[in-house]
Amino acid sequence: MLITRAPKGTKDILPKESYKWQYIERIMRDVCMQFNFKEIRVPTFEHTELFLRSVGDTTDIVNKEMYTFTDKGNRSITLKPEGTAGVARAFVQNNLGAGTLPVKIYYINSPIFRYERPQAGRYREHHQFGIEMFGAEAAYADVEIILLAMTLLKKIGITSLNLHINSIGCPKCRPQYNEKLQNYFKDNLEKMCGTCKERFETNPLRMLDCKINSCQAIVKDAPKTFENLCNECEEHFDTLKKSLDQINVKYIVDPLIVRGLDYYTKTVFELITDTIGAQGTVCGGGRYDHLIEEVGGKPLPGIGFGMGMERLLLTMENAGTKIPEPKNIDIYLLSESDDSKAMSIMIANELRKKGFIVETDFVGRSLKAQMKYADKIDCRYVAIIDDESVSTNVVRLRNMEDGKQKEIKINEISKEIER
Ligand code: ATP
Ligand code: MG
Repeated sequence: MLITRAPKGTKDILPKESYKWQYIERIMRDVCMQFNFKEIRVPTFEHTELFLRSVGDTTDIVNKEMYTFTDKGNRSITLKPEGTAGVARAFVQNNLGAGTLPVKIYYINSPIFRYERPQAGRYREHHQFGIEMFGAEAAYADVEIILLAMTLLKKIGITSLNLHINSIGCPKCRPQYNEKLQNYFKDNLEKMCGTCKERFETNPLRMLDCKINSCQAIVKDAPKTFENLCNECEEHFDTLKKSLDQINVKYIVDPLIVRGLDYYTKTVFELITDTIGAQGTVCGGGRYDHLIEEVGGKPLPGIGFGMGMERLLLTMENAGTKIPEPKNIDIYLLSESDDSKAMSIMIANELRKKGFIVETDFVGRSLKAQMKYADKIDCRYVAIIDDESVSTNVVRLRNMEDGKQKEIKINEISKEIER
């Protein structure tokens, strides 16, 4: 039945696993607070034009992967295929650059939609955590962003990641570089895949990203981006490398990191693990010094990254990273009749005010069935509230760990079950 199957490439995050998400979300928020980044929440869909202008109309994302539709008002709408363009749009629209710079923003759990072939770590709807810093031109901003990502991953317990960096130049040096690439590739073009042939015409830089073995064999000797930078870009890249050295962050200069979006300039980077096969990129980012202009604002440099939350969880799972399990129930209140039920609700209320996790019966089980249920739900204590309790204010309290049971006044329960 179609209606009992989620669409291909989507998945449910079930109650039994959502604590894992909450755990990484908490760490993400904490680290952002320490780096003084503030959260933004932007719409799930934008005008299609925004992505054509920013991500670029020769990229795979725009050409093959977008969920685009015409709404009832005849507007072309696209579900966000990445996080940065929407934030840049909000930045311009709300004039966020008017105050002091830089502006440091993060987003979390942002749904991202791409029509891709689903596989492990690759979905049609996934979620990203991301960072954007607007108004900082220096390579030290790049270092700060990279450091934030690495701090976060370390806090989460992932250490098996490699930092790959590259510089893809700017509108001053890229045209010459693209020409150089075309010169290099033109003799071998016949041996390359259809996508490469297309990219040869529209966006030669993207040919470096081809994952097909026979293309890679040709790509590996292509002129390197970082050997073809203008002075400004070269200096920027040198400062980045020097600063990373100074703070002892290891990196791999990787000429094949070019990223799939057109708005990048100068620094690009990825954090890659080898534990989840071809879907090993957990985090990807870079500088986008012309994006704000592209989406209609005054020129302002920027840098950021996006981190796939599903991939992060997958990496954690493969690395055996411990995720603290949620607290279990402190106390389950068993009740007998209507009167004792009313009393159990009252007691539950008082205990919850004090911060305890409390469960009561509200499906009308018999006392015996409630006892069985208590064994199943993993609670620390149960209190049995029977009809006598109503007049005596005394309940039977059982410690589920050692099985010991005692009679206790209801106003002493909280003291007794304190952790
Ligand atoms: P890939 O090369 O794996 O396709 P990408 O370069 O397309 O990744 P980005 O656009 O940089 O990915 O997105 C940032 C991050 O989002 C990626 O590093 C990855 O962790 C995650 N991501 C991207 N696409 C998907 C997807 N289809 N499903 C799950 N996570 C994804
Ligand atoms: Mg991709």
